[in-house]
Amino acid sequence: RAKTQQRSGHFYFTRSMGVEIRERVRMMHALRSAFSKHELFLMYQPQMDLTTRRPVGAEALLRWRTADGKFVSPDRFIPIAEYSGLIIDIGEWVLRTACAELVRLRAAGHEDFTMSVNVSQVQFRHPQFLPMLRRALQDTGAPPHFLELEITESMAMEEPDLLAQMLAQVKETGVHIAIDDFGTGFSSLSHLQRLRVDRLKIDRAFVTEITGSSRGSSIAEMVIQLGRNLGLSIVAEGVEDERQAQVLYHLGCPLAQGFLFARPMAAGELEEWLRGEEARRA
Ligand code: C2E
Ligand code: MG
Ligand code: MG
Ligand code: MG
Repeated sequence: RAKTQQRSGHFYFTRSMGVEIRERVRMMHALRSAFSKHELFLMYQPQMDLTTRRPVGAEALLRWRTADGKFVSPDRFIPIAEYSGLIIDIGEWVLRTACAELVRLRAAGHEDFTMSVNVSQVQFRHPQFLPMLRRALQDTGAPPHFLELEITESMAMEEPDLLAQMLAQVKETGVHIAIDDFGTGFSSLSHLQRLRVDRLKIDRAFVTEITGSSRGSSIAEMVIQLGRNLGLSIVAEGVEDERQAQVLYHLGCPLAQGFLFARPMAAGELEEWLRGEEARRA
């Protein structure tokens, strides 16, 4: 009897795994088709200077709207894109599109504006990543110093020597590097210093807690202090209310991004929003 139960337990396990694999394969095909039909697009979320309250840049965020109008979250489809290798082509398209948008914004008079692009570790570790990056810069004419690549902290932890070498080569192009979701991984300080990144992005989880538990605020505070001591730029992510912005400002955080200031928006909307911000000040 115990054996049957065990067996049925085993059967249940493999079947649910089968369902999950089938679902993943289905999504992979849907994603490939969506990409070839140009159903993926970018939204841009402004990043603000907390002192002047002026927009200084934007982060490009990938979106997938399926044929029936539903949005699939990048947190769901990026892992599938990574797992299937699709991220290589999608990531190149993201980079080129964001670079082209940066060039367009500069031509429209936003000359100090920066553009941040998320890069998956699968993409980053691909042997053709650097030539791909150089080509994208060359073809679009995007100024490297105004472009930033965001890599996650968890990624920064793996194979530190290889990563340090890669980052050094990226830096040679002039492109900046940010560590995304900082505070969620466990980077050692010496490691962080060795990577010579330009910016830390404080994860939203610590920003959310900043006005609540003292423990949350001490993590954000620690990251800000660390960034300042290492001479890095710091962006707080997911700032949703004025109190959070105030606390961050007083803790010495120079930059912030979040729904308080603006949601991610389409390219055309961003330009309009930037014009609106300028008009509001004038
Ligand atoms: P991330 O890079 O940490 O991006 C920040 C996420 O927080 C975005 O979610 C953004 O829409 C959301 N967000 C911004 N402000 C607020 C706020 O005030 N409150 C709340 N609740 N959320 C806020 P999104 O666009 O769903 O992206 C999720 C993740 O997917 C990103 O996290 C990034 O890791 C990944 N991702 C997005 N686009 C790309 C891409 O082009 N390439 C790669 N490799 N990953 C991407
Ligand atoms: Mg990011
Ligand atoms: Mg983040
Ligand atoms: Mg994230």
